[in-house]
Amino acid sequence: MAATLPNVSRPGAYDVERVRRDFPILAREVGGKPLVYLDNAASAQRPLAVLRAVEHYETHSHANVHRGVHALSQAATEAFEGARERVRRFLNARSTKEIIFVRGTTEAINLVAQSYARPRVGPGDEILITALEHHANIVPWQMLREQTGCTLKVAPINRRGELIWDEFERLLSPRTRLVAVAHVSNALGTILPVERIVEAAHARGVPVLLDGAQAVPHIAVDVRALGCDFYAFSGHKLYGPTGIGVLYGREELLAEMPPWQGGGDMILTVSFEHTTYNDLPWKFEAGTPHISGAVGLAAAMDYVEGLGLDAIAAHEHALLELATKELSRIDGLEIIGTAERKAAVVSFTMRDIHPHDIGTILDSEGVAVRSGHHCAMPVMEFFGIPATARASFGCYNTPQDVERLVAALHKAREVFG
Ligand code: PLP
Repeated sequence: MAATLPNVSRPGAYDVERVRRDFPILAREVGGKPLVYLDNAASAQRPLAVLRAVEHYETHSHANVHRGVHALSQAATEAFEGARERVRRFLNARSTKEIIFVRGTTEAINLVAQSYARPRVGPGDEILITALEHHANIVPWQMLREQTGCTLKVAPINRRGELIWDEFERLLSPRTRLVAVAHVSNALGTILPVERIVEAAHARGVPVLLDGAQAVPHIAVDVRALGCDFYAFSGHKLYGPTGIGVLYGREELLAEMPPWQGGGDMILTVSFEHTTYNDLPWKFEAGTPHISGAVGLAAAMDYVEGLGLDAIAAHEHALLELATKELSRIDGLEIIGTAERKAAVVSFTMRDIHPHDIGTILDSEGVAVRSGHHCAMPVMEFFGIPATARASFGCYNTPQDVERLVAALHKAREVFG
């Protein structure tokens, strides 16, 4: 097959071979074959810059933050708060008060459900999500429903995996208290029209939470331009460490919200009778944070911005087009999720082969894809399938990776007839 990409080999263009050298794990073999890593939507690999930043912090600067007057505690605090400033710049937020470090997208959404929504909603009030959400943007609202008696409304999608706009608008009602939607779908790759969603919700005075877990590695996000009220993402999908993520919240909203966990660091004074809470953003960060994670996340942001998010997106888009074209030619293969605007995710099924068997055969060829429901069981139900196999591309994938994927899928077809 013609494994050609615009841009790849021209001088000054995106140099994917150089990018690959930044990721030592890509040099390893799986089952005696060179690894092809196409599970980036689940978790991306880390470049040396991130590994080294974490190692440097742990080797030279670690202590607890915000507490000690000694040199190491000050160094750790500087590193941690410096990372917060890096995140602020990455998102173009107004202030570091708006940047809350959390474990990841899941924790960020639970924080909004419990601290923003719970005190504000009651029976009859509505939370509006879409039919393509990850479980992390479904279950916290179901828990809220159990706690408060509110209603969960779900805006439908079409067979391409796109939000049906008129239905979404119709579901925005005078009882809607919050809209919570994915910026990019992990199961289908659909990029949602988030600007339009924010505009329509705000026109009715409804705040919007965007789940940016799948967006930040591919799209330059500017929370002020988007105008969203909350934005959540995880470090590990952005070439950073696991266990660290961010909740961005508009300061006016965060200031009014009660803390969601209690403990050290989120207080100013404590007595048995009365506790006063810390200022933003620390009010939402009870206990010792993931300091090296924040440092690694900041390094990951330096890394992707060094490559250029637009350059990464263009590179991945070319891979998406190539993969879509080549996979469509395989006998009995159906691509699930064919939205007009898509990130570099190709979900698919193959006639007479269970997605888990596809995953196993691909693994024996050194090709790592995900198979399953991708934590989006309602999406699978909508398409009437139990699962899909999913190839998701990152900044280091190549046309040769697509070629290896296609060859392995032909092998699966041979094995299963
Ligand atoms: N939202 C989306 C769209 C995701 O793809 C994921 C992870 O796959 C999550 C939320 C949850 O992220 P985490 O497990 O890092 O909290």
